[in-house]
Amino acid sequence: MLDLPRARDRMVKVHIRRRGIHDREILQAMREVPREAFVDPGFEEFAYEDAPLPIADGQTISQPYIVAFMIEMADVKPGDHVLEVGTGSGYAAAVMSRIVEQVYTIERHPGLAETAKRRFEKLGYENIEVRAGDGTKGWPEAAPFDAIVVTASGPGAPLALQEQLDVAGRLVIPVGDDPELQRLLKVTRTGAATYSEEDFGGVRFVPLIGEQGWPENGRPAE
Ligand code: SAM
Repeated sequence: MLDLPRARDRMVKVHIRRRGIHDREILQAMREVPREAFVDPGFEEFAYEDAPLPIADGQTISQPYIVAFMIEMADVKPGDHVLEVGTGSGYAAAVMSRIVEQVYTIERHPGLAETAKRRFEKLGYENIEVRAGDGTKGWPEAAPFDAIVVTASGPGAPLALQEQLDVAGRLVIPVGDDPELQRLLKVTRTGAATYSEEDFGGVRFVPLIGEQGWPENGRPAE
């Protein structure tokens, strides 16, 4: 019989804290959110390995460490309004929802968006709004955001997303056309029309497909 709460605590200790994530809010949120509720049936026993897992529509639930790392990069804080592009399973949105005031999350596959919505309802996570659509255009009615986290990799940081950041807001996004390796960027809005950019190194993500992302058939190299 699997002791999932124990496996979750161990995952946070070994794969998140020991690898350098020390933000208390993030560690507590990851201890709280049951990742087993976000994996597909049959994958529960792998929920606390530090690895991505397959979900419907050929997509993935991200590796727990990278979820923690991106949330730390985005510097999310209590009171923040955050947009996630790429709901996938809903796990990252669920983790952020335990820290911030409100999470908006967009997924291009309607089935994934619907499944994530049901999971949030079942867990009683009431501060997450889910929408199916092209997240490269953002969520203008809910803007400006304190942080935007994009969990699929695009050719660059979409202008629409940069413009939906509040001043001092942070956009975290993997970019690049190599299917094997992209760069994780953090774009910070420093003024009305000024932005600064930092590079946090190599990552590997599924493509961001949409008007300000890649075309339907993926990255040019695919
Ligand atoms: N955050 C997710 C989680 O915790 O399970 C992992 C998401 S998965 C790595 C990336 C997701 O981005 C996929 O579900 C994919 O369908 C979605 N995606 C790709 N392009 C998108 C777009 N333009 N708008 C919204 N979602 C998009």
